[in-house]
Amino acid sequence: MVRQNEIRENEVAVVPPAATDAGLVFIGRISTPWTSRMETPRQGRHDGPVCRIEIFEPWVLALKGVEAFERLEILYWLDRSRRDLVLQSPASNGEVHGTFSLRSPVRPNPIGTSIVKLEAVEGSSLLVRGLDCLDGTPLIDLKPDRTLFKPIAPPQRGDFETGDGKA
Ligand code: SAM
Repeated sequence: MVRQNEIRENEVAVVPPAATDAGLVFIGRISTPWTSRMETPRQGRHDGPVCRIEIFEPWVLALKGVEAFERLEILYWLDRSRRDLVLQSPASNGEVHGTFSLRSPVRPNPIGTSIVKLEAVEGSSLLVRGLDCLDGTPLIDLKPDRTLFKPIAPPQRGDFETGDGKA
């Protein structure tokens, strides 16, 4: 069952600490065919519907070069999620799992990530497949899929470090 913010059997909610402002800015907006959590895919698929990611000014220039990447990693703010559950029952059967062992949208900082297939760049918008968010979801960031990206800056010492160093 899809959650509409209810608490299920054996789930545990906490009183979260007051939010601190991490200084996030929403850099765009995602348009998808889904207006209800009952219909939204649990995870996007690369043969799913084309969705539009609109980038707001003054960030549009930052799209320079993205067309070189077949896949992008998208980070978005799951703005309609509750944020206070530490144990969750995705199957609504009384069996619970820790929030950090799940990819549930319900988390203290409801950040969703998807690797999407880039279909086209249209001015300040990207057309992509592979999203799983509601229409109007705010965009936090986008970057090349890490498996396609080679750092452009010269390597530095840590890049060559191996072993069992301790923090
Ligand atoms: N792919 C992302 C991840 O793994 O981080 C998100 C996965 S999450 C399971 C996807 C679900 O989040 C959707 O099926 C929908 O129920 C819910 N969802 C999507 N957009 C949302 C939004 N803006 N606010 C709250 N919930 C949302």
